[in-house]
Parts: sequence; structure tokens; C-alpha cells
Amino acid sequence: MSLHSLTILGATGTIGVNTLDVVARHPDKFRVVALSGQNQIDKLAAQCRQFRPRYAVVLEADKATALQALLAGTATEVLCGVEALEFVSSLAEVDSVMAAIVGAAGLRPALAAARAGKRVLLANKETLVMAGRFFMQAVRDNNATLLPIDSEHNAVFQSMPSAYFARQSNANLAAHGVRRVLLTASGGPFRSRELETLKDITPEQAIAHPNWVMGKKISVDSATMMNKGLEVIEAHWLFNAPPEKIEVVIHPQSIVHSMVEYLDGSVLAQLSNPDMRTPIAHSLAYPERIEAGVNWLDLAKIGTLTFEAPDLRRFPCLGLAYQALAEGGAAPAILNAANEEVVAAFLDKKIPYLGIAATLDAVLQRLFDLPANSLDELMAADAQARALARELIAAKRVLPA
Ligand code: NDP
Ligand code: MG
Repeated sequence: MSLHSLTILGATGTIGVNTLDVVARHPDKFRVVALSGQNQIDKLAAQCRQFRPRYAVVLEADKATALQALLAGTATEVLCGVEALEFVSSLAEVDSVMAAIVGAAGLRPALAAARAGKRVLLANKETLVMAGRFFMQAVRDNNATLLPIDSEHNAVFQSMPSAYFARQSNANLAAHGVRRVLLTASGGPFRSRELETLKDITPEQAIAHPNWVMGKKISVDSATMMNKGLEVIEAHWLFNAPPEKIEVVIHPQSIVHSMVEYLDGSVLAQLSNPDMRTPIAHSLAYPERIEAGVNWLDLAKIGTLTFEAPDLRRFPCLGLAYQALAEGGAAPAILNAANEEVVAAFLDKKIPYLGIAATLDAVLQRLFDLPANSLDELMAADAQARALARELIAAKRVLPA
């Protein structure tokens, strides 16, 4: 492959660091044009010294000043603000944009990359959950290429017929011989914990994921299985799959990353060790293959792969996500926004673990039919959901009946 230019949004996060790890293994293949971060300024400065990007972007003016001081004497220009994130996502010299900011903040720059017709390496699932219709439209209208980084969706992408993603494809599952998409889930740290003790779960326990090392927010989402719920919505948009064609199966070993079932009974899967560098390298080099630095899969050593159905009493957030997807409109954006608020409140010990699903349920029931005819309306729904979630949290009206 010829030299490929990259913008990495969220470079200081887990996905960003893994991306730079793969990039560093292939200096002949990739050139970093821009990196972004938020609070970890020292880390961003160190990354800039190593990868020498043309731009480094942060959101706030004081952070920009601090970063500038750290980068004095280097060729990296420091930019600041959401517009700057959009700017480095749509630069003519950039081929691919890794969208790895966490949360709703990732939407605008990811959308800018799609509108500029880039190859978008999408880790920020919230973009699709909030605004899937508008984002997918922008991808189509501007001939952008969308490659999923989320391990499950990357696995589905690899297991689907490649014609499914061709520009002129009608992207209809049955027309391509596909019966269902099977998303695997690890089940997180509480898969077999006694139901009566779920109320005692602490943030420290919730972020200790058995298989993956991830940011805090997505770790809590994995514990509640809201992450899988968001991924069902993500799969709906990525693969044009109706909710009833997306099934979740718990697979605690996290080796089979997801599957596609065909009409003839075949099931194709992608397997690898749970290491995000595999889907990242796949998307960076697509359609070629490059080394990712991961350990080779030793199936004989692993021995057993098991599968089970998820229990919605244990994981009510998964049910809420299916409900929001069936409702459509602003409901997924509302669920996503409220979830960010309740997860932050849980991590701050302002609400108990069971308060997460209870608050989300209350917000969704009150707001689900807000209008969603434009991005502005979706952003308004997002804001309203956050406000209501905060109000319920502050009033401590968050415990299940
Ligand atoms: P992290 O929390 O580790 O990193 C988030 C990144 O976004 C950091 O660079 C952070 O900067 C930056 N950031 C945080 N808030 C803002 C903001 N308001 N504006 C701009 N930048 C911001 O998250 P992960 O890397 O784990 O996840 C990133 C995305 O990838 C998420 O959407 C997640 O759902 C998705 N994902 C992650 C997986 C994983 O294995 N980690 C797997 C699949 C998907 P700083 O750290 O400097 O403050
Ligand atoms: Mg995932």
C-alpha cells in the first residue's frame, strides 16, 4: 500500500494508543497528520514528539496553551475547539480518520470526515447510535468509506460478503443470502454474580473487565450490557439490519468476535485474541493485511469456547436498547445521552448500580417521542435527556420500584 495519511481523534484514549501502536510498526505505510486529546496533555505532547503530526487539537484554550508550551520548538501546530476537530477530519491531505473520541462529543468530527468523503475508521459508536440516519446518509452522499473498529462490527464486516459494502449494493441482508447477524458479548464481570447482590456493585468492580482493557465509560457499559445494546443499534445502521435480525449471544471467552448466519445454514465468524489492535490494523490496511503486534491465537490452549443466551433480568439495559431501536426517531439518542449521564453519576458514586437502568428507563419513557427530523432536533433531544437524567439523579429518584 502507498503511504497513507491519518488523523487520529482521541489519540490519548485506549483506541488512540492502540492505533498509534499499530502505526508505529509500519512507518513506511502510515503518516500521522493530526492527533487530538482532551485532558491528557502530557501524553498528547509525547505522542506528538514521537509521531510529528502537522496538527495537535484540544478542546479548551488553557489546554492549548499548555500543549503549546510542551511542544515549543517542534513543527506541530496546536489548534483548539470543535471546529478544529472538524478541520483536521476533513483536510485534503488526510486519507483516513480514526474516530476514537468517547461519547457524543465524537459526532461532529466523525460527521465532518464522512462529509469530506474520507475513509472513516469508526470506533465512536455513539455517532451511529445518536444520528445513524444522518451519518449513513453523509457516508453515501459523499462516497466516504466506513470501516467499523468496534470488534464485533469489524468481525461482522469481515464475515459479510464484500459485495454487501459495494457502492451500488442494495445492502439488503436476504438479497445477499444473509439470515442474521450474531453479536457476541462477554457478559462482563457480573455475568454469573448472584442477582440479589447486583445492588452492591461498586464502580471499581464494574470497571474491572475480565477480558478487555478499555476506557471507564465503555467498561461500565460492558458491565450493564448497555454496550451491547448500543452495538445492536450500531449494527442496525452499519449493516442495514432490522432489530429482529440482530441477535446477541454471550460468549465469555471473547475469542469469537461476532458472526454472520447465511440462508444455507453456514455461520461465518471472525476469531482472534481480544486485542483491539486486530480490528484497528484490519481497518487501517483494508483491503490489505498487516501485522498488528498481537499474540497468535492458540485454540488448543484456550480449549473451550462457550455460548449462552443473555438474561434480560440481569441486563435490563440490553432490553432498553432494543426498545429504543424499535421506537426509532430520537429514542436511541435519548438513551445514549442519558446513559452518559448515569454512568458518570455511577462512577462518581452518586447513584447505585441498579440506578443506572432504572434512571434510563424513566428518561426513555418520558421523552422517547421527541422529534428527530434533523441533527439539531437530535441534539436538542440529547440535551433534554441529559437534563432529565441529571434531575432524576439529583432528586435521588433512581432506584427501581
Ligand atoms: P477513552 O476514554 O480511553 O479515550 C477517549 C478519548 O477521547 C481520549 O483521547 C480523550 O482525551 C478524548 N475525549 C474525551 N472526551 C472528549 C471530548 N469531550 N472532546 C474531545 N475529545 C474527548 O475511550 P476509548 O478509547 O475506550 O473509546 C473511544 C471510543 O471507542 C468510544 O466511543 C468507545 O465506545 C469506542 N470503543 C472502544 C473500545 C475499546 O476497546 N476501548 C472498543 C470498541 C469501541 P483525554 O484522554 O486526553 O482526556
Ligand atoms: Mg464492542
